[in-house]
Amino acid sequence: MTVPVLTDTHCHIDAYDNPVAVLEDAHRAGIHVIAVTEDPGKYRLLRTRLGRRDGLDVALGFHPLRAGNASPHDLARFLRLLPQATWIGEIGLDFSRAGVKTRKQQLRVFESILADPQVRTRPVTVHSRGAERETIAQLAQAQVSAILHWYTGPLAAVDDALAAGLWFSINPAMVRSTKAGPLLRRLPPERVLLETDGPFARSGSRSAVPSDLIGTLDHLARLWDISPGEARKAVAQNEQRLRYHSEHPPA
Ligand SMILES: [Zn+2]
Repeated sequence: MTVPVLTDTHCHIDAYDNPVAVLEDAHRAGIHVIAVTEDPGKYRLLRTRLGRRDGLDVALGFHPLRAGNASPHDLARFLRLLPQATWIGEIGLDFSRAGVKTRKQQLRVFESILADPQVRTRPVTVHSRGAERETIAQLAQAQVSAILHWYTGPLAAVDDALAAGLWFSINPAMVRSTKAGPLLRRLPPERVLLETDGPFARSGSRSAVPSDLIGTLDHLARLWDISPGEARKAVAQNEQRLRYHSEHPPA
């Protein structure tokens, strides 16, 4: 029996000291990496550097904290690159202290991206810090196959996200944190995906890398009271459903 490939749905591969070594380690662990980017320029750069590599998709992104002081030219560039992108992210909203001042500009970029029908045919990984309800409402309205990455918002909004068909990606730092416990217990296993948010998220005392997801899966298996093998199969099935949904968006 072959072990199903897993996907790290949110990894800042360009921020590691040695991206190629991290990708090779991920490949050995059977993990496909979605390399998120923070703006269209970074996407082009990363595609050029790493684009044609097995086990990797470079995602077209526009980070909300970048969107806050972007020009209309940057947004146009994003929309122009959209047809060639297989994944979108990271995009989203950030109304935390770091982003609240550029709320309006962020909303303009996020809404323009979601208004493009091509976004509905790609998986999207989304940042929502401090803006969870607004982000969930926008995604629900746009009917995109979106993943809420490292969700730290109110538990009460989780049901709205689930009702909208959204997914949640869980990282090595989350399964170790007591703060994320209530969220992890609340999420139905069939809506859970994996991410590292590396190298920004920690796995113990060092930066998380995609191969840490095997340990994250062990945590989830204990939580769900199934074997690690069954948990791996369950999450791999979720990834397949995510792909199916993005290839067959609601009419
Ligand atoms: Zn990120």
